[in-house]
Formats: sequence, structure tokens, C-alpha cells
Amino acid sequence: MLSRDHLLVNIGVGSLLVAGPVRVLHEAGLGQAWAVRLERVMDVALGWLCAPWPAGGGWTPAWPWTALGAAAAFLLGTVAPDVDNPRSLVGRHFRWLPLGPHGGLTHSLWVLIGLAAVVVLVPVARPLTASLWLGWALHVLVDRPSRSGWAPWWPLNLGRHRWRIVDMGGVDVVVVDGGARLYRVGSGLETALALLSSAVTGSLAVWLALPVLRGA
Ligand SMILES: [Zn+2]
Repeated sequence: MLSRDHLLVNIGVGSLLVAGPVRVLHEAGLGQAWAVRLERVMDVALGWLCAPWPAGGGWTPAWPWTALGAAAAFLLGTVAPDVDNPRSLVGRHFRWLPLGPHGGLTHSLWVLIGLAAVVVLVPVARPLTASLWLGWALHVLVDRPSRSGWAPWWPLNLGRHRWRIVDMGGVDVVVVDGGARLYRVGSGLETALALLSSAVTGSLAVWLALPVLRGA
């Protein structure tokens, strides 16, 4: 998927991930029983994510900066996996990096597992690394049903995920046969699916946030 389409999909999902908890906090404040229960779960999750910050569920001056940093890290994670593609938004600035073929290492589970380890082991950076991980994971997930397929354990050929390298317009691309083959990379269908996804998630986010915005 093109970086632009990844941004469309992830910004939609990201807005939903912000609007959902904001709505829960709002409804919990109004005394809705379901929201009060969900708020307790969110408190545990947020406490783990922002452990080094003296948040305690309340407001501190560090919150806006943390939120801004997390959003930036999420967007970075959205486009970063395609650093292995010399034609992509990020990759064109890092052609000198020896990352192997497009769709290889940076799209593998190795990188996601490595990043997850950093999220768990370095609490002080967790709001940023967890957001980076989420953007990255969504990128890999959305790339998966493309016609190029997915080689999760690249460069190993494990199970039915057998990969080969194909020259696509001067870019070496890892191609795995089989799989969903939902769209061709860079096609009109890809952009249409990305637009549809962001329209659905974006509208849902607005719907969730409306009572909060109205103060109702
Ligand atoms: Zn990609």
C-alpha cells in the first residue's frame, strides 16, 4: 500500500482510538454503569502505558506533550515500514540503508516483536514506543492482503509462507503466493479501500465524540 493510503487508514483508526476512550470518560462522568466499568479497565491500561508520568488518571502539564509525541510516533510508525522501498515517502531519503527487498525485514514479525520488547522493557518511553508499534503493526496488517502477500518470518521460509523476490519497476519486492490478494499495490482499488476505511472509522469517531463536543 502507498504511504498516502496507509496514512488515510491509520489516521481513521487512530481517531477512533482517541474518540472511544474520550466518550467512555464522558459517559462515566455522567454515571453510566457500563462506562464506569470500562473506565476502570482504561485506568489500568493507561497506568501501564504512562507509568513514568505522575498521571494517576488525573491532569498534569505533561499530558498534552505526551499526547502530541504519541500522535507523532503513531504517524512515524504508519510510514516507517516502507523505508525499505526507495520509492516511498520515507524510503526515498534512506536509499543508502541496506534493508534488503521491499516487504522483507521491516514488514516482518521480527521487527514487531523487537519493538514490542522495547515497549515492555523501557517504561519511560512507553507512550511513544507503544504508539510507534501500533502504527507499525497496522501498516503491516493492512499490507497483508495485497497481491504481494506477506512473509512474516522473512528471510526464513516457514510453513506455507514461501517468498520469492520479484523486480517491480526497478524495486526488489518480496512476493508470497496465495493469501487474500485483495488489491494491487498503488491501484485505484487500494485508494478506494483506504478512503472507505477512513470514512467509516472517521465517521464513527465523530459519532462517538459528538456528545462530548456538545457537552451533552
Ligand atoms: Zn508496506
